[in-house]
Amino acid sequence: MLDTLHRIVKEVNAAPDLEKALFTIVSMVKQAIDCDVCSVYLTDAETRSHVLAATNGLREEAVGKVALPLGRGLVGLVAERAEPLNISDAPGHPRYLRITETGEAQYRGFLGVPIIQNRKVLGVLVVRQEAQREFTEDEVTFLFTLAAQLAGAITMARASGELDTLTTHSRGARYLEGRPGSTGVSIGTGIVAYRLADLDAIPDRAADDMEGECNAFRAAVAAVEDDLRTLQDRLAGQIPAEDNALFDALLLMLGGDTLVTETIELIEQGQWAPGALRQSIHAHAQVFENMEDVYLRERASDIRDLGRRILMHLQSDSPHQVDYPSATILVGEEVSAVQLAEVPSECLAGIVSATGSSSSHVAILARAMGIPAVMGVTDLPVNRIGERELIIDGYRGRVYLSPSVSVRAEYERLAEEERALTAEAESLRGMPSESTDGIAFPLHLNTGLVNDTNSLSNDDIAGIGLYRTELPFMVRDRFPAESVQVLNYRRVLEGFAPRPVILRTLDIGGDKPLPYFPIKEQNPFLGWRGVRISLAHPEIFLTQVRAMLRAAVDLDNLQIMLPMISGVAEVDELKMLITRAHDELLEEGYAVSMPQIGVMIEVPSAVYMIEELARRVDFVSVGTNDLTQYLLAVDRNNSRVAELFDDLHPAVLRSLEHVVRGARVFNRPVGICGELAGNPLATILLMGLGVDSLSMSAGALMKVKWVVRSFSVLRARQLLQAALRMEDAQQVRRFMEGALDDMGLGGLFRPGR
Ligand code: PEP
Ligand code: MG
Repeated sequence: MLDTLHRIVKEVNAAPDLEKALFTIVSMVKQAIDCDVCSVYLTDAETRSHVLAATNGLREEAVGKVALPLGRGLVGLVAERAEPLNISDAPGHPRYLRITETGEAQYRGFLGVPIIQNRKVLGVLVVRQEAQREFTEDEVTFLFTLAAQLAGAITMARASGELDTLTTHSRGARYLEGRPGSTGVSIGTGIVAYRLADLDAIPDRAADDMEGECNAFRAAVAAVEDDLRTLQDRLAGQIPAEDNALFDALLLMLGGDTLVTETIELIEQGQWAPGALRQSIHAHAQVFENMEDVYLRERASDIRDLGRRILMHLQSDSPHQVDYPSATILVGEEVSAVQLAEVPSECLAGIVSATGSSSSHVAILARAMGIPAVMGVTDLPVNRIGERELIIDGYRGRVYLSPSVSVRAEYERLAEEERALTAEAESLRGMPSESTDGIAFPLHLNTGLVNDTNSLSNDDIAGIGLYRTELPFMVRDRFPAESVQVLNYRRVLEGFAPRPVILRTLDIGGDKPLPYFPIKEQNPFLGWRGVRISLAHPEIFLTQVRAMLRAAVDLDNLQIMLPMISGVAEVDELKMLITRAHDELLEEGYAVSMPQIGVMIEVPSAVYMIEELARRVDFVSVGTNDLTQYLLAVDRNNSRVAELFDDLHPAVLRSLEHVVRGARVFNRPVGICGELAGNPLATILLMGLGVDSLSMSAGALMKVKWVVRSFSVLRARQLLQAALRMEDAQQVRRFMEGALDDMGLGGLFRPGR
């Protein structure tokens, strides 16, 4: 049975549209169970009925016509209870509803199972038998298991097949749902990344002219190298040099022997160039795809990306040119930073990605650039989106496809309001970030990936509250040397001196493994991460700390922060290593000074050990992303449980209160550097808590300042006290939305004003 189950699921997944998917289901299930009829009813919320969507055994003409009202009949009963129903004599059941169009009366045996996705009943899968018979337990569990697996495929096929009806008329505001990646709304044209070259569609073919094929291939590789360098240059003004190393990694792959040599070998064995390319790219990508490590798996997509680029040049002499519309919404299965760079920044209006979450690189880039993004739109039929008009709502994580006139008009209004709102927020530039009763809340910047400080004046940024040092490590192919790190840190420290810059020591592991330092673990987030790696590899830590100290000579604005601290022993040992690096450098003749040292509070144990930790360091900073993940036991990158990840949860707020109180005992300043710090809904709560600084991405600064300047600390404390007593995150969210609305600041958390 297991084989049959896999086969059915595979075929359904491969079906091009809903109709074919359902047809496959009913015919394969009927054969597998050996029954007389198999049908699928899909629930239509609008007409409040279960519509016969496919059948094998009943009259074909009834498909699409027979609609059983919700709550009626046996199908209604299955959907209502969301449980299987197995009846030997259906007509004898009190809920039996006789439907003549399908010719059902003659069937007695009935087994129906619900098709459920995310707690929602999508429809009912039914098998019938002419004779009176109860289906066996094996048959029930088979159908039940199958239905559970089909739900995802049905949703996907439905989204793809329904595009036209989904979007045009009467049904109005239907949309695809993802997760908010970056706030804002945009109306634009969907441009699918890489729609030209489809490597998988290349057939095998014998090479007529081996020499010519080899030359064409080499020329295509050279052209891609040129393209990458141009893109690298184009992004140079927007992202710092060390992040630009992403392109170096790609160029390295191209320049590296294996990919090119193997392709040439295949051509020499008789394949034509595109076929040889497909084979070697596939083989290389496969190696990475089979790795458990997320980062290394991502390398497979880099390799396929390169393959498509080479193919594009092989297929045409002219370079790949896309006419980007003035409002381009980049759509892709997994939108990459390189693809983003290809769109001229003045044309880029938004990003929609079928995979990823708000903590993906692309989402971080989007936030830094102030462009709306919707991530993890799992039902996105990417191939059918190109050239369509799209509206994306980055506040709610929605994507409207070819929207109706009324939806468009509504979003035009919202976009206009948002422009006015942004202009108003921008007018706060240069003004102090202080409450109406004069208490200052310095705003700091989170950085590390994007050079997002260009347009912000000194008065707006009190310093760098979090510089994530791992990103430059991630885009290289080996650990960067001490001298390379010195240059990197010096640039940041100098750029902001005399304002403080908090450099965080390497926080790899979890979802941020290094390609050249693979870690294989069952539970990476609970495993070897952050300072745990630093302690196991003091040489990596010492090199980094030495670079930080050397970079700060004569500037003295360096603060060092330790991530993922879970106990005091870690702090004691790491402080000793920092002192050692400092002393050694002095001996070597560098005029280094001891920096302030702080810890991140992002593990629940650190919350409860706050006093012991605070006593040992100069400052603490709460990483609410990880703290939420560990407090609520919700993987921050898993779109399946994304709804449960909410940093406004009262448990998070109560932890913050505990941290602030504990740190006060030793007069240590408390900062917040997780995403919560940049969320205007949380600003009042953080003011009420009395935190000393907030650190966020550039795009959030002015909005947060607006909130700070709109409330008194007294009022903030009152609101905080009420929120702390609440029972769930939704309640807190609604309450804070109300508070912002009352001040006319509703536009800071939803589209429009
Ligand atoms: C956090 O966990 O809140 C944080 C700021 O660190 P990162 O997102 O880099 O893990
Ligand atoms: Mg963290």
